[in-house]
Amino acid sequence: MAARCLIAFMVMASCLSVLVSGGLPGDLFAHSVASKLRVDRDTTARASSDFGRIVAAAPEAVLHPATPADIAELVRFSASSPSPFPVAPRGQGHSARGQSLAPGGVVVDMRALAARRGRVNVSAGGAGAAPYVDAGGEQLWADVLRATLEHGLAPRVWTDYLRITVAGTLSNAGIGGQAFRHGPQIANVLELDVITGRGDMVTCSRDKDPDLFFAVLGGLGQFGIITRARIGLEPAPKRVRWVRLAYSDVVTFTRDQELLISKRASEAGFDYVEGQVQLNRTLTEGPKSTPFFSRFDIDRLAGLASESVSGVIYFIEGAMYYNESTAVSVDQKLTSVLEQLSFDKGFVFTKDVSYVQFLDRVREEERVLRSIGMWDVPHPWLNLFVPQSRILDFDTGVLKGVFAGANPVGVILMYPMNRNMWDDRMTAVSGNDDMFYVVGLLRSAVVPGDVERLERENEAVLAFCDNEGIGCKQYLPHYTSQDGWRSHFGAKWSRVTELKVKYDPYGILSPGQRIFSSLTPMALAAM
Ligand code: FAD
Repeated sequence: MAARCLIAFMVMASCLSVLVSGGLPGDLFAHSVASKLRVDRDTTARASSDFGRIVAAAPEAVLHPATPADIAELVRFSASSPSPFPVAPRGQGHSARGQSLAPGGVVVDMRALAARRGRVNVSAGGAGAAPYVDAGGEQLWADVLRATLEHGLAPRVWTDYLRITVAGTLSNAGIGGQAFRHGPQIANVLELDVITGRGDMVTCSRDKDPDLFFAVLGGLGQFGIITRARIGLEPAPKRVRWVRLAYSDVVTFTRDQELLISKRASEAGFDYVEGQVQLNRTLTEGPKSTPFFSRFDIDRLAGLASESVSGVIYFIEGAMYYNESTAVSVDQKLTSVLEQLSFDKGFVFTKDVSYVQFLDRVREEERVLRSIGMWDVPHPWLNLFVPQSRILDFDTGVLKGVFAGANPVGVILMYPMNRNMWDDRMTAVSGNDDMFYVVGLLRSAVVPGDVERLERENEAVLAFCDNEGIGCKQYLPHYTSQDGWRSHFGAKWSRVTELKVKYDPYGILSPGQRIFSSLTPMALAAM
């Protein structure tokens, strides 16, 4: 049976490649969703690229749905057509490698749904019921935050940037400094409304249609279009003590980070733990002040970097939540945490901000970058999960090897997570080892030739990981070959292909991920 389905899928996949060059079926424009389709050049051009600015490919049309039912109709039309065409839901288009594009097909501008009122609904809980929010998949996390705060509540886990959509991050995992304690955002979802690749509208959860629920969370848009997510909430704090601690030694830095993420909520510790790496020249040649550090701080940090043999310094970024009534104890708590850590003496920097200022901190950086024309530039980003047991090898080979002498414009993130907070039933791929590090090489291309140079360095990083058997996994993954995807999913690969056949048998959804759209009969036969 599975083999028959795979053959059917194979035939459909090859039809798809014919269709991509052949355009959309003409009768689509006589269909009831036609009035919501735009084919003008301005609209299709806006859906032809993404934040990465590396890949570009125009769709034939863009759907501006008024309701989820419009999307279901479009998908059903494609699925029942003799030549199914690709359909890609697009949130904010903040992917880096064309993941939300639909060359030759239809991009669904999910943000159009946000024009309708009532797409974010908070249930404040009480009488034993836990609070949650029902948010449209198209909603920006910043808007979810605003709506939940009206009830004194908030989701537990946040990405660093909030101008991205709920479904865009749930299609990947949604990671940030709270994930060590609460898991990625996908681990905090209670229920979903999904439109499958057959055009069926299904409500699923851990108990109802769990196959679809677990497939879609971290599913890279391959199994269904999320139109609503129910997300658990907790009481929101009012204020945050935001801390950065500098280290000139990677062993001490990682040991302290690992100590911090092994603490339980009841122990004195941070509510948020991330980390960054600063190469020496980025301190001496970069901006003279940042939203966090003053000019004086940067001069001191540059001094610290010049004293270290490698010129590399590391920061733990921690945050402690509190309310005004507990302001005294936050000082005591912070002192007790800092006493347990071994950052370079005197290199502790603190800020006191509101909870919203803290969560929306990248907004400020976005404003600064936009003002100097550095936001809308190519972003050849590479994000990796590196096993804890090999992070020091990675540090030597990449940060002090491949990047020796480099002067990147952008940010390098490095912070650990606990693997037991990831649910292995979901299609999302976590890192190896009980703890693994997120390493985000978030570099921007700012002068001609930068894209090629940064891409060569990314290749060198991946080659280093392969040659040394580091066991890295990509986050927000991008592969150009079937072998790449097979090894990315590892033991999950056969399950992923089964789920694809079950929920998107015509290979319609999110072709920009390039997982299934390039399947050849030979590749399928080898599955
Ligand atoms: P899009 O780029 O529009 O879409 C991404 C993928 O999801 C596509 O394949 C698309 O087809 C699919 N998709 C979109 N909508 C739906 C839907 N409704 N149903 C099913 N599939 C859908 N990520 C983190 O985890 N943590 C971070 O801290 C973080 N910080 C970031 C900071 C910046 C400045 C940027 C630009 C990105 C960051 N990201 C982070 C990455 C981000 O989470 C992903 O790129 C995410 O996909 C962006 O959401 P989007 O709405 O722009 O999705």
